[in-house]
Amino acid sequence: MEETERDCIFCKIVKGEIPGDIVYQDDKVLAFNDIDPKAPVHVLIVPRDHIPGIADIEDEQKALMGHILSVASRIASEKGIGESGFRVVVNSGRDAGQAVLHIHFHVLGGRALSWPPG
Ligand code: 5GP
Ligand code: ZN
Repeated sequence: MEETERDCIFCKIVKGEIPGDIVYQDDKVLAFNDIDPKAPVHVLIVPRDHIPGIADIEDEQKALMGHILSVASRIASEKGIGESGFRVVVNSGRDAGQAVLHIHFHVLGGRALSWPPG
């Protein structure tokens, strides 16, 4: 296992080594509430496998990315924001402010979200 993976906070949540407020899980992904929510609904969806970011997605992981979007839709419906609207965000790299180098899809909603983002 690589150093980055061993120290990865989201890998630790996936493995149950640190607690996560889990809202959905299956054999491929885990979804949990963000520890510092930026909206009334703020869920993070992560693949169980350690993928650092968008730039690292392999061809055989494309279906997994589609699966994550379908999980995002399901979570939004379950959280009651499927109709009112929600945003799915993936920050990639330094200028986007990616803080955790394990790809994660933010699902945000429950209030009007401004555009463009900062
Ligand atoms: P990024 O800026 O990398 O796109 O987003 C990282 C997100 O992970 C932030 O919204 C931050 O609040 C969240 N986060 C960081 N550490 C933890 C943690 O230990 N548990 C949970 N649930 N969320 C975390
Ligand atoms: Zn990881």
